[in-house]
Amino acid sequence: MKNWQDTRVDFALKAVQGAACLASDIQNEMVSEAITKDDRSPVTVADFAAQAVVGYMLENSFPGALLVGEEQADLLRSPAEREILERITEFVKRLIPGVSPEEVCDHIDRGVDNPGKNYWTLDPIDGTKGFLRGAQYACALAYVEDGVVQLGVLGCPNIKSDLKQEKGGEGSILIAVKGEGSWISKIRGDLSPDQFRILTVSNISRVEDARLMRSFESGHTNTSQVDAFQDALGDLAEPVKMDSQVKYALLAGGEGEIYLRLLSPDQKDYREKIWDQAAGSIIVEEAGGKVTDLDGKTLDFSRGRTLNENRGVCASNGLLHNEALEALRTVKA
Ligand code: AMP
Ligand code: MG
Repeated sequence: MKNWQDTRVDFALKAVQGAACLASDIQNEMVSEAITKDDRSPVTVADFAAQAVVGYMLENSFPGALLVGEEQADLLRSPAEREILERITEFVKRLIPGVSPEEVCDHIDRGVDNPGKNYWTLDPIDGTKGFLRGAQYACALAYVEDGVVQLGVLGCPNIKSDLKQEKGGEGSILIAVKGEGSWISKIRGDLSPDQFRILTVSNISRVEDARLMRSFESGHTNTSQVDAFQDALGDLAEPVKMDSQVKYALLAGGEGEIYLRLLSPDQKDYREKIWDQAAGSIIVEEAGGKVTDLDGKTLDFSRGRTLNENRGVCASNGLLHNEALEALRTVKA
């Protein structure tokens, strides 16, 4: 891990640790009261607070570097949203003491850049529906050069570093650096290199033993096509349904073998957002797995805010990749 002391690695780990732990505090303190009221405000607060923290830390570490974040503060600046902005600011103050609501908006808007030759991309809360259900979600940050992901970090507050799910557990942080492998540690406390263990994908090569990872939310995929895919491959092991890029973490750690992002029937033109795939995909690849689109093409992160030149995603432990792509060809809608 010769790049371990790299300033980019140092920044990315600390920024994701800060943002994800803050999101976790917000989930613990706000979600249970909101679930009963069908209120989305906890995830709104966590999303903006996490992006503000990363935007602030990036500007301190790499002034002027491009940041393509999922959120922007336009609406928050309106008087009607003042109450929610105050709530966000109270949480952000835990990491940036004395910050004002206006400064919080500016830190969030640090992430309104468009992708360039080199850029960072951030999903402050990936898996917002999981966050609201008290389930899995991730804070995802990646660095891209010439359309290729060089570094990815996932902060996963609800999965332990042995990759077992546990609500209210210690949570984990994963990092991959191009050519340096994928690594995992607990999310809170010391993040020095000796705290991390290396991740490797599973060595399962028999289709009947493969575990398929799929979205919990049916609107994010094509459920009947996933079922047809399973039939085309034959008897698979029990599929794992889960929100967010935590699915990539499980794949990287050998807890699943195939992960598909298919196009939902009513949104055939949907193109994956760069921040939904960048960090997770390098973590799988550096753990020995393979990530392509549904046609077997490499993901191209140089096409703007979406993966415009790719259709969906097929990720695997590598050993089952060709079989997965072949099965996809037979179930193409
Ligand atoms: P997951 O938690 O795996 O269901 O994926 C969550 C991500 O799916 C969100 O971050 C959204 O950006 C993305 N998403 C939203 N709508 C769609 C869609 N129609 N197809 C695929 N992904 C979507
Ligand atoms: Mg997302």
